[in-house]
Amino acid sequence: MEFTNDAYRVQGLDLHEICDNFGTPVYVYDAEKIVNQLESLKKAFAGNKLKIKFAAKSLTNLAILKLIRKHGGGIDVVSIQEAQLALKAGFEAKDILFTPNCVGFDEICEGVKLGLMINIDNLSILKKFGETYGNSKPCCIRLNPHIMAGGNKKISTGHADSKFGISIYQLPDVLELIDKYGMDVIGLHVHTGSDILDADVFMQMSKIIFEAANNFAELKFIDFGSGFKVAYQEGDIVTSIEELGKKLSSAFREFCQEYGTELEMWFEPGKYLVSEAGLFLVKTNVVKATPARTFVGVNSGLNHFLRPMMYDAHHDIVNISNPSGEKHVYSVVGYICETDNLGWDRQLHEVREGDLLAFKNAGAYCFSMASNYNSRLRPPEVLIIDGEAKLIRKRETMEDITRNLVDIEI
Ligand SMILES: *Cc1c(COP(=O)(O)O)cnc(C)c1O
Repeated sequence: MEFTNDAYRVQGLDLHEICDNFGTPVYVYDAEKIVNQLESLKKAFAGNKLKIKFAAKSLTNLAILKLIRKHGGGIDVVSIQEAQLALKAGFEAKDILFTPNCVGFDEICEGVKLGLMINIDNLSILKKFGETYGNSKPCCIRLNPHIMAGGNKKISTGHADSKFGISIYQLPDVLELIDKYGMDVIGLHVHTGSDILDADVFMQMSKIIFEAANNFAELKFIDFGSGFKVAYQEGDIVTSIEELGKKLSSAFREFCQEYGTELEMWFEPGKYLVSEAGLFLVKTNVVKATPARTFVGVNSGLNHFLRPMMYDAHHDIVNISNPSGEKHVYSVVGYICETDNLGWDRQLHEVREGDLLAFKNAGAYCFSMASNYNSRLRPPEVLIIDGEAKLIRKRETMEDITRNLVDIEI
C-alpha cells in the first residue's frame, strides 16, 4: 500500500479506479499485506512447533479465510456460524479452535459434532463437558491469568472483572472436575485482550500459564492468544514481534524441557494479520462550516465503521482526491442519525464535496462489525490479490433489508 504525495495505490492499482469500479463506500484489502504479516509471525517464532490461528471474527470474509488457509494459517472461531464458514473455507474441523464465551451447552455439543477443538471457558461447561463426553473428546481450557492488559476496558479480557476464561484461582476446581471425569485436556489457552503494548506482559502471562500447565499431564499445545498491537497512527508504540519471539521462544523451550514434551505453540491474532491491510473508502457528501468547526459529512457512518465510536479508536484519514491541497482542520462525521464522529479535528488536505477519503487500518473489526442501522445497505468488500481487484462481497440491496420482514395484514 503506497500513500505518496500524488499516488494512492494498492499493489499498483489506483484507489480512484477501485471506487469507480465498485462504488463507495467500499472496503478494500491488500492480500499481500496479510500474507506478509503472517510470514513475519512465522519468522519471529521460528524453531517452535508453531500454529497461527486467525481470529476469524476480525475479518470474516470467506476469501480472507481461504487466503490465510492457503498460506498455512489455522483458525480460531467464536460462534458455530464462524465454524461453519471456516469449514466452507476448507479448514479441517480438527484444525478449528472453537473459543466461545457464555454460549449454551447445546452450541458446544454442536461444535463437538462438527469435530472442532473445544476451548472451555467456564466451570459449568467444563462439568457438563465431563459428564457428557468423559475422556472421549479432547479439549482445551481457557484460563484467566488476571493480568490487566489491553488497549482499553472494552478490549481487555484477562483482568479480574472480565467475563472471559476460568480464573487462575479456580484451578483447583478445574483439576477436580478433570480428575472426576477423566477428561482429556490437551491444551491451555490465555487471551488477555487486544492492543497489548509490551512483550513483558506476555512473559508475565506465560509464567502463570507454565505454572498451571505443570498440573496437566497430557498437554499437546499452549495457546498464548493474541493482542499484538499494530500502529493506528504515527508514533504509536507497537508490540515488538521480534523481541517477543526471542523472549517467549526461549522461555517456552525451557518450559517444554521441564515438562518433558515439545508442545505446540499457538497464537490467534486478528488485528495483527488484517488491520493494516484494510482501507475504507468513502465519498464526501457535504462540507459544512458551522461557527464552531468545519464538518466533512461522508456517505457512511457508524453503521459501517463502528470503531471510532465504540472504542474511541483513532483511524488515520487521507483525502485521496486532493493529495497536494492545503491542509485544514476538519471533523469527519457520518450520515447516521446519531452522533457518529469518525475523526475529530483532523488535518486533511482541503476537502471538497465529492472528494474520496480513505480510512486506514480498516481490516480488523470494521466490516465484521457493520450493521444495517438506519436501514442502510452494508458496503462491498474488495480483495486486491496478485495485482487484481476482486469483489469478495457484494454491496447489499434493498432486498437484503426486506428479506426477513414478514408483511402482515394490519
Ligand atoms: C478477539 C480474539 C482474538 C483476537 O484478538 P486481536 O486483538 O484481534 O488479535 C484472539 N483470541 C480470542 C479468543 C479472541 O476472542
